[in-house]
Order: sequence, then C-alpha cells, then structure tokens
Amino acid sequence: MTTHIDSLDPATNEVLGRVPVLHPEEVRAATAQARTAARWWQDQGYPGRRRHLLAWRRQLARHAEELIDLLHRENGKPRADAALELLLSLEHIEWTAKNAHRVLRPTKRSPGLLTRNFSARVERLPFGVVGVIGPWNYPLYTPNGSIATALAAGNTVVFKPSEYTPLVARWYVDAFTRANPEAPPGILTLVTGDGQTGAALCGAGVDKLAFTGSTATGRKVMGACAEQLVPVVLELGGKDAAIVAADADLPAAADAIAFGAMGNAGQTCVGIERVYVERSVRDRFLAELDEVLRGVAPGIAYGPMTMPGQLDIVRRHVDDAIAAGAFTMLGGSDSIGTRYIEPVVLVDPPHTCAAIQEETFGPTVTVTTVESIDEAVRLANDLPYGLAAAVFSRRRAREIAQQLDTGQVSVNSVLGFAAIASLPLGGRGHSGFGRIHGPEGLQEFTRTRAIATQRFPIPGISLLSFRRPPWLDRLLPRLITWLHGR
Ligand code: NDP
Repeated sequence: MTTHIDSLDPATNEVLGRVPVLHPEEVRAATAQARTAARWWQDQGYPGRRRHLLAWRRQLARHAEELIDLLHRENGKPRADAALELLLSLEHIEWTAKNAHRVLRPTKRSPGLLTRNFSARVERLPFGVVGVIGPWNYPLYTPNGSIATALAAGNTVVFKPSEYTPLVARWYVDAFTRANPEAPPGILTLVTGDGQTGAALCGAGVDKLAFTGSTATGRKVMGACAEQLVPVVLELGGKDAAIVAADADLPAAADAIAFGAMGNAGQTCVGIERVYVERSVRDRFLAELDEVLRGVAPGIAYGPMTMPGQLDIVRRHVDDAIAAGAFTMLGGSDSIGTRYIEPVVLVDPPHTCAAIQEETFGPTVTVTTVESIDEAVRLANDLPYGLAAAVFSRRRAREIAQQLDTGQVSVNSVLGFAAIASLPLGGRGHSGFGRIHGPEGLQEFTRTRAIATQRFPIPGISLLSFRRPPWLDRLLPRLITWLHGR
C-alpha cells in the first residue's frame, strides 16, 4: 500500500517534497475534528470570520514570493502566471470575507394575502463541514474558489488537493494556521493522498462536497456522495468556444484568443479550445493569430504539461484532426515533445473529430470557418459541455453572448469573468452544476431556514386549525376562484 506521494517538478522530475497518503479512517478523523471546530468558527460570526480570513490573505500576500516560487516549481507554470493566480485568489478571499455578511444576512419576505397575520423571514446557515477536492491546473485559484467561499459562509473545510500539487496546497493551508494561531485545529484541514483519499472524503461525514476536476471523476464523486445524500457542487471540464464576428477587432481578438488557448499550456478549464470565425475575416484573423503565436514559446510563455499522461491525449487529438483533413496553420504532431508542447492551430477539422468534441487540455486550438453567426452559435452550443465562451464583435457581442448556452461569457476578452470576484462561476451539462464565487457561491455553501411567525391570531378564521368554522370551509372554493381564477 502506498504510504506517501513524491511531488515532482514537471520540468525536471526533481522531487520537491513528500506528503502522506491518508487512509479513510484518517480522513474521517479530519472531518470529525472539522465538525468540532465548526462550532468555534460559527461563534466568530461574520465580523470574526472576516478578520481571520483577511489575516490569512495578508499572510499569503506577505510571503507571495515563496508561494509563487513553489507554484512555479510544482505546477510548472511561469512565475508571472503563478503570481497572477495568487493575485486572483487573494481578490476572491477579500471579496468573500468582506461581502459574506451582506449577502447572507436574513431577509424578510412578504407573507401574502392569506397569511397577512404572519411575518416571514429566511435565514441562511452554513452546512457545517464542507469537503473540497481540487485539481492541479490552478492548484490555488480553483480550490480557493470553494474554500474561501465556504469558510466565509461559516463552514469549516477539509481539503483534498491533487496528488500533482500537494505542496502548494499544504503551504496555503498552513498559512491559515500561521495567520490565526488562536484558532482551534480543524477550521481548514488538508488531507493528502490520491484518488482513493478523495473518494474517502465523499463518505467521511462531510455535509457538502465541492469538486473541481474532470467530468469522468465528477461522475464518480456524485455517485459516492449520493450514497450518503451529500449535496455536491461540480466544477468540471469544458470545451470553450470563441466566436469571432466579421466586425471584430481582429488583432485584439487574435491576441486574446492566443492567450486563452495557449496560456497555462492550455491546461485551463475555461481556456479557449475552439474558435468559430466568419468567412469574410477568416484569413485576416488567422494571419493575426499566426503573428501572435510565433512569439509564444513553451518554456517561456507557458510551462511543461503538468501531468505526463496528458501528452498522449493531446497527440491523439492532433493526429486525429490531421488525419481527418484539418489544415495545420501552426505546429502539428512534431510539436508534442516529452514535456513541452509547442502551439498547434488546426484549421477546419470536421466537427466530429476528438479535437472538437473532447476536452484537449493542451496548447492547441481549432479554428472553424462559418458562414454566419447563427452557424457559429449552433456549433458552439452543439456539445454537452457548457462552461464558458468568448465573443469578439463590435456591434453584436451582447446579442451573440445571450445565445450561448454556458455558465459565463467573456465579451471582447477571454477569462474576464474569472478575474471578477463578484461574479459566479459554474457550468451546465457535462461542465457540472452549482456555483462558486460571488453572492451565488456564498449561497451555494449555505442552506436556508424559513421562519414564519404568527404575529396575532385572526379570531375565528384561522386556516390552519381544526377549529376552522364551517362557513370558512364553504367559502374556500369561492375564495379559490376569486384569488386564482381570474
Ligand atoms: P481529476 O478529475 O483527475 O482529479 C480531480 C481531483 O479529484 C484530484 O484531486 C484527484 O485526486 C481527485 N480524485 C480522483 N479520483 C477520485 C475519486 N474517485 N473520488 C474523489 N476524488 C478523486 O482532474 P484533474 O486534476 O486532472 O484536473 C483537470 C480537470 O479539471 C479538467 O477536466 C478541467 O477542465 C477541470 N477543471 C474544471 C474547473 C472548473 O471550474 N469547472 C477548473 C479547473 C479544472 P488525484 O489527483 O490525487 O488523483
């Protein structure tokens, strides 16, 4: 039985550190401790939790260089990208810490005509213990979206990171303890290990589980949680499309799409994997894209593939598209090395090939020529994924965005929504369900309690009583017609 995992630098295979593989009973013990700590955390109230979360944010920010370096070495991304990831994570911690109270405060509701003598109110309560399972591609930003939100809403968290990036996760979790030495253990707990450790967390007694990862694993997680009736948030894979309309600013669109497709070596759930461009501007767009990408070198602009197995998936998609008749504007099968992949642009592959239908998760992009925006929208929506999309147009952007069947859309940019802490993030279909970030994320990590208070009895006409007078029973059918039959 494996007892530990060595975390490797994906660029060199150097061992960076080692973490234990926790067994199911240890994961259960961590969850039990988190449950005990939940009482203390809830007693802090919103002001107390805000103070603790902001102290954590300061701790992360003051040691930014150290964390950026670790993120660079363990995940492989360039230091500048690691810095951006940390910056966005801190923005989310700040927003959620400062806004939880406002978003989750009790609200009054109108009691309606029949129950005028009642006051009605909705309170939002934390679930208790939230399990968070995260991926390796944005090992800080992605789990942080669930963790910071769940904590601000009053839950304690047990976090299982990817086995490819456990050291970043350990640093991030330890920073909470360093920033809040007076807090009892169990507010934010790390459980390291492999997929089995993640599976154990689903059945360890958590009250809600937030999973970010592939669609295939998401299905397993949902199945395991169903056994215990544990509610889930699933943030899964994507196959995001960008639509370039004839009236787009083409140099700007090419620049943004190059970044959206190749940034982080294409290992971005909301990265651009497909482009649909109107025929009249296709050649000019491709020329702009070519010019941008000729200056984009792996090892400088982006890092190695974090997970070695991903190289084979990218190779299969590229080879399959070329065999099916795609024109390679840039790169090709030879672009796939042993660790790094050079940018690949596949023009007009058939809609049925893997490079269009499946998540590639590499620095490749398909560009499909369309005759109209209607065709672009139809093809963009024609997959079971529905995570995000981008639209480039001067005059029609909003109209196009409103037709895209995704959780978020960037207009004249890529990934814009991910940088705005007040916006929700989440998908539909094979990209999952539920929301993290923003007010909707805070609501996702709470449950409601509705309170109906009878302020005064209405003598003789209480509807909810066996002592209801017979004349009221006779009146009810007429009341129904009067209230709802018009
Ligand atoms: P995986 O689905 O392989 O793994 C995600 C997490 O689940 C890891 O921590 C993994 O552990 C764990 N895990 C594996 N098996 C199980 C199991 N049976 N039960 C519970 N947990 C398990 O995804 P990747 O890490 O490869 O991440 C890439 C994927 O994540 C892509 O599809 C990407 O699109 C998606 N993603 C989605 C985002 C979104 O917001 N929608 C954001 C970022 C990524 P271990 O690594 O130790 O095996």
